[in-house]
Amino acid sequence: MKSSPKTNRSLSGLLCVAFGHDYIVTRKVTNHINEYKCSHCGREVAENDTGHLEVLTQNLKHTHSILATFFQKKNQKISTTLLRTRDVA
Ligand SMILES: [Zn+2]
Repeated sequence: MKSSPKTNRSLSGLLCVAFGHDYIVTRKVTNHINEYKCSHCGREVAENDTGHLEVLTQNLKHTHSILATFFQKKNQKISTTLLRTRDVA
């Protein structure tokens, strides 16, 4: 008999079903969107446009990478503008 490495994971999954997932933030995409991973079962989720959690797919991860890059650039632009404004004032 081959033992499945998934056994522990499904046991943890049962804990999650009973007590809920224990999500930790794995990536901050924007101010409103974070990616989370459950420390018990490894389930990955993210907030969507409406603020609800949805399963994090490879496709969504890719979208978040692009979004995070844009968000960081936008933030840099804003802080630079603020600094300039302060310099003038
Ligand atoms: Zn879980």
